[in-house]
This record gives sequence, C-alpha cells and structure tokens, in this order.
Amino acid sequence: MRDVIVIGCGGGGPVVAKELAARGLDVLVLEGGPRFANPEQEWSRLENDANNPTTGYYRVGPSDRERSAYPRALPQDSYVWQVAGVGGTTLHYYGNCPRAPRGVFDGYAGSDAANYDVDHRFPFAYEELLPYYEWVEATLPVQTAAMGTKESIFFRGAEGIGLPVNTAKQPEAPSFRPQENAILQPQGTAGKAEDPRFPDAQGCTFCGHCFQGCSMPRGAPRNLKAKRSTDNSYVPMMLTADAWTGGRPAELIADAFVQKIHTASGSTGVPRASGVTYELPDGTKHREDARIVVLAGGAVESPRLWRNSELPNPNGWVGRGFTDHHLDWVFGVFDEDTGNSKGASSSARADFPGYGGLENGGLPPGLQAFAQTFSDSGISGARRTASPATPAGADTLGRIVGRELLDSLQDVNRILNILVLTDDDVESQNGVSLLQPGLGDTNGTIPKITMRHRRRSARTLRNREFLAAKAVQILRAAGAKSVHRMDWPPLILHSQSTMRMGLSEADSVADAWAQSRAVAGLYIADNSVLANSAGAANPTLTTQAVATRTAERIFTEHFGGDPWVGREEPVCSIDDRVTEAVIARGL
Ligand SMILES: Cc1cc2nc3c(=O)[nH]c(=O)nc-3n(C[C@H](O)[C@H](O)[C@H](O)COP(=O)(O)OP(=O)(O)OC[C@H]3O[C@@H](n4cnc5c(N)ncnc54)[C@H](O)[C@@H]3O)c2cc1C
Repeated sequence: MRDVIVIGCGGGGPVVAKELAARGLDVLVLEGGPRFANPEQEWSRLENDANNPTTGYYRVGPSDRERSAYPRALPQDSYVWQVAGVGGTTLHYYGNCPRAPRGVFDGYAGSDAANYDVDHRFPFAYEELLPYYEWVEATLPVQTAAMGTKESIFFRGAEGIGLPVNTAKQPEAPSFRPQENAILQPQGTAGKAEDPRFPDAQGCTFCGHCFQGCSMPRGAPRNLKAKRSTDNSYVPMMLTADAWTGGRPAELIADAFVQKIHTASGSTGVPRASGVTYELPDGTKHREDARIVVLAGGAVESPRLWRNSELPNPNGWVGRGFTDHHLDWVFGVFDEDTGNSKGASSSARADFPGYGGLENGGLPPGLQAFAQTFSDSGISGARRTASPATPAGADTLGRIVGRELLDSLQDVNRILNILVLTDDDVESQNGVSLLQPGLGDTNGTIPKITMRHRRRSARTLRNREFLAAKAVQILRAAGAKSVHRMDWPPLILHSQSTMRMGLSEADSVADAWAQSRAVAGLYIADNSVLANSAGAANPTLTTQAVATRTAERIFTEHFGGDPWVGREEPVCSIDDRVTEAVIARGL
C-alpha cells in the first residue's frame, strides 16, 4: 500500500507530490498523457504539429498520435484548451503568476467588498494563503517578467488612459504593471544569439513560442529550461526529492489513465478513498491502494472521474460552478512594429479589482489567425443585434473578413492583442456532467461541458463589457490605427472551480482543507478546487499555493507529521542540488 496516490501531473498534482516526497512519503503519480522526456527532439515550432486539438502533440489524448484524442461533448460553440501529459496544461501556459485579489477570500471587509462574488468566497482569509503564495513563488521561481516592444506599447496605452503604475504584489486600485511570471529572466546570449545554447544562454531566449512548450535554451538541463511549467519545475523536484531534502523520490507513471477511484467503508460512516484502477496503453488494468488519494485531473476530468467512479454527490455540486474568466479578445492594428510574435508571450497587465484584468498576449501567426476569427458575433456587421456584447467603442465587433482580415494578418508584428479576463461568478448552471451512459471512450463516459455563454450573471456580463471598453481605450491611446473586438465564444483556458471548496456545505464539494466532504481521505489539488474565479487572476499560482497548503495538511493530519518539517527554507527548482540530480539521472 502506498502512502499517497496523485491522479494527474499537470498544474496542481506535482505540487502535492513534491511537497510530500520532500517529507519522505511514498508517493505515486499517475498521469494519463505522455511524458515528454526529450522536448528538444519531440517538440517543434510548427503550430499545427503542436496545437492541433485532434492530432497535435499537445492535446487531450494518449501519447500515440495515431489514436484518436479523447472526445468531449460541447453543446455550444466553444473550445476547451487543455493538454494531457506530464506538465498538463502548464505546457501551454504563459507562466503569468498574479496572486488573487484579497476580495475573493473570506473575511475581506474592504470598501469594495460587495464588488466580488460574495456568495462564493474562499473559505479562509488571504493572510492564511500568503505564506503558501510566497513558498510557491520562491520554488518556481516567480520574478518580474522580462519585457519587450509589445509591453512598452501596452504601457504607453495604459498611461494614456490615466492608469497609474502598480509596484506592489497586490493591486488595490485600477493600475498597470509588468507581469509577475514564472519564466527565468534572460542572461548571457539569450535573446541575442541566433541559436542560443546553454550555458552561454540562460533563461528566456525571447523565441516567442511559450504556447508550444519551452525547451529553451537548447542544451539546458530540464530544470533550467526557461518556462516554469511543472515539467520543468515541480516534476524534476518531485523525482529528485532525496537529492535536495533527503526525502524520497516520487514515482511517476505516464500514459496511466485512472478510470476508477475505489472506496472502503470509513469509521464515521462516510466512505474512505482506498485506491485507484488505471489503464496502460497496452490495455492492461492495474490496481494500486493508498492511504490518501489526491485528485488533480483538471477542472473537466476530475468531476468526470468522480462521476464515472460513482462516488457520492449529496448536494449535486460535483462538476457545477465552472468559472473560466469569460474571456474576450481585443486587438489593434498599428503602423509601427509591435514585436507581437517575440519574447515571453504576455508580460504586461492592467488590473481592475472587482472587475478583472487585461493582459497583452503575443501570438505566432497561426494562433493569431485563430484568435481573430473566433467569435460569438458572427461576421462583423452582419448580425450585431444577436449578441449580448456591444462593440465597446471598437471599430468592429465579430469576425473581420476579406481585405480587412488579410490586411491585419499581413504582418503579425503590427498587431497588439489584449486578453480580457473577467472576474466571473460561480453559477450552478455552468459545469461538467456526463454524457449519456454508454457514450464513452476507454476511460468511461464522456464529459459534457456546459457554459451558458449568453446567460452569464449580470455582474459577469457587466465586468466583461467594462473591461472590453478599457482594452479598446488602451489600444487607441497607444496609437492603434484600428481596433477590433472579437466577442469570443467560451474559449476555456482558465478552467476552474468545478469541485469547489467553500464555506457552505450546500454548494461546495471540498472543505477548507481541500478534502472532499463526501469521501474521506480524498483531496482535490487542481484548479477545480478553487472556490471561485480568483478575481480573474490567472489561476495556476493560486492552485499551487492551495496545493502546497493541502500537502502540509495531509502530512500532519494523516501521517503524524510535524508542520514545520519541510518548511524551514524553500528550495528553488533551479537549485544546484536539483540540477545535479537531474543531470546525473538523465531526467
Ligand atoms: C494557452 C494557455 C495559456 C495559459 N496561461 C496561463 C498563465 O499564464 N498563467 C496561469 O496561471 N494559467 C495559465 N493557463 C492555465 C493553466 O494552464 C492551468 O491553470 C493549469 O494548467 C491547471 O492545472 P490543473 O492541475 O488544474 O490541470 P492540468 O494542468 O490540465 O492537469 C491535469 C492533468 O491531469 C491528467 N489527468 C486527467 N484525468 C486523469 C486521469 N483520470 N488519470 C490520470 N491523469 C489524468 C491530465 O492528462 C493532465 O495532465 C493557461 C492555459 C492555456 C491553455
């Protein structure tokens, strides 16, 4: 019997695994997707090779790309952008690591308290999470982002509409700032040489391909690759815990899709998690038992696995309350070079506490074309009244076509994009359920993702309109010659809160320690456990801080651990001891 089994090796799972491996527990991590052991060979800069949702190396599916991707039912125009594999969706992520605003936590009494999702606050105060934020920030590490031309234009626009610069970690009022991100800053020849190689080049090489996975600089040990996706940060640490803490390395099995969580009867009458069954690519099924099971399959697969395992769902909230930041996309076309396709992809942001935020988003050409042809408002000018969105002062709303589209795409480095991140409400109508029993793949009944795009709460819709208008103003103040608002359908990149922790037993799945209320010994450690949309902060840092706190709780509550063991001094994932072990073990 294992001490702990972690299901899923994406943004949250490896955090729990690393913290518990460091404390000497026997941890098994099961990941349903591939392990990219040699990214310099396995990944490319070809956008379709990487990002095609059915055949790309980044998709939700098995590692054998000849086999089909895992299907999902989307009963509305929408797309869920996730990755199966070691690193999970952080393989795509931009590494932006803002903390959630204080207003989303319990006990917040600021003058703007009513502006947040007051019915679904985190079940603890911001101050409770603060040491865990700091711990993760030191581990990844999180630093002030390296910036380039596109950021300077964003800042010019933000200043132009009268926003002040913010220099604190937590913006208390509308303001702009560089991102705090988990991408190592460029050093040596990084960003300067034609073919930057380690050790002359260290950190971000400004290649502009954050989306396709970070294997730069070439020749760097895995834990020294620039972007701190978990495959480059927490995973190397969890596999080498003996080398840098005297802990016990976690065991990782990739291509191992967990199909069932098992329970036994518990002493309090509540069932207790006892183990899992997973399937390997050759079709063999394996059972492993453990004292504690940690569910970290992401906001779609975690509720799906719960449902397919027929675990109890007494209040009906498993899978409900999906938040996604109700994203929108506004872009400006400029006469000057914006550097849109270069550098760390998104290094500037503006925050509007209580409403959400804006960030610039640099894209390579294929994704740029996708981003500006994805719309819930149809072809620009053709059916303006059909959508709840307004132009918000933009020149066009919806897809631009023909000559206008060609002109704007002619040079990707004349565009500046702004992503609208809405502080959206937890709404029980939005969520993940199972499609009709019998309609499944090898892993069970298919998940059905419902996002009632046009019927979001009044606060959510207000926030999105407010932010879209701010984005338009920033682009105009920065000197854009034309500004276009897409009104995206749900493009779900920030999948959150489908297994939410909460203050009330009536509308939450997990308690304040991220332990499920209905199954003892079953913890949740991915974005799904977030209590709300985290005020539109990009979610991964908050998930990782919560997961760190959860790991500490598992250690003290179930293994008699001393809370101070393992917490004396954070070890950074680029520490020499980790690097030496990564090189010595060929990780
Ligand atoms: C383009 C893009 C940019 C982004 N940029 C940012 C950013 O800058 N900052 C930020 O904070 N966030 C960003 N995100 C979001 C970020 O990637 C997610 O917040 C994060 O990855 C979520 O972590 P997770 O653990 O919830 O899920 P995931 O990272 O999706 O990991 C879940 C893992 O579990 C595995 N799994 C699922 N079910 C099973 C099962 N039954 N058995 C075994 N394994 C299973 C999956 O294969 C997957 O690897 C971005 C996302 C995208 C798509």
